Amino acid sequence: MKQYNVLVVGGAGYIGSHMVKFLLDGGSGVVTLDDLSKGHRDLVCGGKFYEGSMDDQALLDKIFSENMINAVMHFAAYSLVGESVIDPLKYYKNNLYGTLELIRGMIRNGVKNFIFSSTAAVYGEPVETPITEEHPPRPTNPYGATKIAVERMLRDCDTAYGFKYVSLRYFNAAGADESGKIGERHEPESHLIPLILKAALGERENISIFGTDYPTPDGTCIRDYIHVNDLARAHSLALEALFAGQPSAVYNLGNSKGYSVREVIDVAGKITGLPIPVVESERRPGDPAVLIAGSDKIKQDLGWKPQREDLETMISTAWEWHKQGKY
Ligand code: UDP
Repeated sequence: MKQYNVLVVGGAGYIGSHMVKFLLDGGSGVVTLDDLSKGHRDLVCGGKFYEGSMDDQALLDKIFSENMINAVMHFAAYSLVGESVIDPLKYYKNNLYGTLELIRGMIRNGVKNFIFSSTAAVYGEPVETPITEEHPPRPTNPYGATKIAVERMLRDCDTAYGFKYVSLRYFNAAGADESGKIGERHEPESHLIPLILKAALGERENISIFGTDYPTPDGTCIRDYIHVNDLARAHSLALEALFAGQPSAVYNLGNSKGYSVREVIDVAGKITGLPIPVVESERRPGDPAVLIAGSDKIKQDLGWKPQREDLETMISTAWEWHKQGKY
């Protein structure tokens, strides 16, 4: 048996598919479970694949009995803030209840190592920047609320059942694998970098800047972007830590460096060499002005070090993917 045989739930999505590739490249065994409601089968570049829901107990029993799984990584959440406000129960059902059922299936099958995709949205409007893990969690939307609810459930499961987990609070995932085989494909797309690249390709008329009157140097929102393969590496280190007997933990994942919306558009313009028409629009409800991660804890505890921390690398890898038109 391989040292790690990982069930990647949501492995057909953007971050999950990069995780699958990262694990396979590192020699781990990989099994993907995805209901394909958001994911894409062709983004899963290897390993075994099961189509279905993470709350399906019979399917979970089948997967665990057919494969010697010793850890689960969970990427199968809905993640659109606006949609979560309009239809919160959809989010509580999938993100909270679905995760509860996944954990129930794991515990019944004796699998107790879990890496969870959490989010900077658990913090809400920051009271200080950079945001450390000690910052009070006060989510301002149902999406963030479902993630902090899962984190609390995980803590209780550790106490009660010895269920070990690492929860990774991502800031803004960006970029694509250097192979050009996988990348970001959301339908509909709502994220800044893919939308900018679509505008460069002429697939959209323009990119709207949501708010130009924020209290930032150029008036647009500042975010902390992190390359998707640096995220994948962090998951892998988290897994090693759990197997080495380290206790359950919660970590931020960002580069501790912020870029404004205008800066992202400018860098994309240079990389693509194409005009990117810009329209200035109203603020998007619920967007904090500045979100920057304090990521010292994961660097100290796990030795995580980003390898693609400059925005140019993130945008150029995303561009290599987008210009192929495979999204
Ligand atoms: N944004 C924008 N125009 C868009 C999409 C996003 O100006 O068409 C801004 C958004 O307001 C935020 C930043 O870009 O300040 C990143 O947004 P995204 O949706 O990519 O990620 P989020 O920060 O919401 O997780």
